[in-house]
Amino acid sequence: MTTIAFIGLGNMGGGMAANLAKAGHDVAAFDISEEALGAAKAKGCRTAASGAEAVKGAEAVVTMLPAGKHVRAVYTDDVFDHAEPGTLLLDCSTIDVDTARSVADQAAAKGFAMVDAPVSGGILAAEGGTLTFMVGGTDEAFERARPILEAMGKAVIHAGDAGNGQAAKICNNMLLGATMIATCETFNLAEALGLDPQVFYDISSQASGQSWSMTSYCPVPGVGPETPADKDYAGGFQAPLMLKDLKLAMEAAEASDTRTPMGAKARALYEHFVGEGGERKDFSGIIQFLARHGGE
Ligand code: NAD
Repeated sequence: MTTIAFIGLGNMGGGMAANLAKAGHDVAAFDISEEALGAAKAKGCRTAASGAEAVKGAEAVVTMLPAGKHVRAVYTDDVFDHAEPGTLLLDCSTIDVDTARSVADQAAAKGFAMVDAPVSGGILAAEGGTLTFMVGGTDEAFERARPILEAMGKAVIHAGDAGNGQAAKICNNMLLGATMIATCETFNLAEALGLDPQVFYDISSQASGQSWSMTSYCPVPGVGPETPADKDYAGGFQAPLMLKDLKLAMEAAEASDTRTPMGAKARALYEHFVGEGGERKDFSGIIQFLARHGGE
């Protein structure tokens, strides 16, 4: 059993903290939302009155926060001055690579081992303990983090040094956003040309146009496995979160002077979609937006 402070008990963190408690760890949970705190208590966590209180005496600290500014604030205000030196720090939030590297540098300077460990998988995977973690940090920090992450996920992959977990996450999601848009517009064209979507799926899913967006997450209702398309694009991976990841990818592309024209177009299209009714839709719902607007 490890004593673990868990800060950020929202859609994702709530399920993840519950899984750590279920695995037998002593979890001291904190969130600024009373409701989130109450839910964590009902699922076997101890609740703390502040982040600083949660980290006192913890052997590991896990954070699952909205964005880079929250991560920087929580580590600066609550963690660095209140956790015991040597405590293992794991940030599972999706944030920009530069902030991840700068917080990891600060942690190292203060004698903490830290990993960035963003996740692939949504709320159901967080509840079911089937997330995939992409981890950045030293070999030693990774080996210490692995058993904690394994209690919340099905795969834990070391991506390299600090920040590389975030780099892997945004590169993967930039590819996902672009392939989803390409898959959606292709289905729209196939239909306009008189192809039955099921017939086109049967052909393309076994031909060179095949991708995860087509065969595992088909954006057309009634075609392929059951997906959010079959529930009017409810649930799944919400379009604003895809937009967030595409924005992070474009910031990283600019900072590293890398040309990513498809990523830039995907970001512009998701921005348009989210601004025009897609804010509560799964990201594959962009198929309807593309059919209406063509993205112009
Ligand atoms: P969320 O907004 O539901 O949860 C974030 C929680 O952090 C909230 O409960 C909020 O009250 C809490 N919080 C904010 N500031 C705090 C502070 N100073 N101290 C304590 N608690 C604080 O977000 P989420 O959907 O759980 O996502 C968390 C992270 O996971 C994000 O970075 C997101 O991009 C990433 N992510 C989400 C999904 C998804 O499907 N929701 C999938 C993959 C990755």
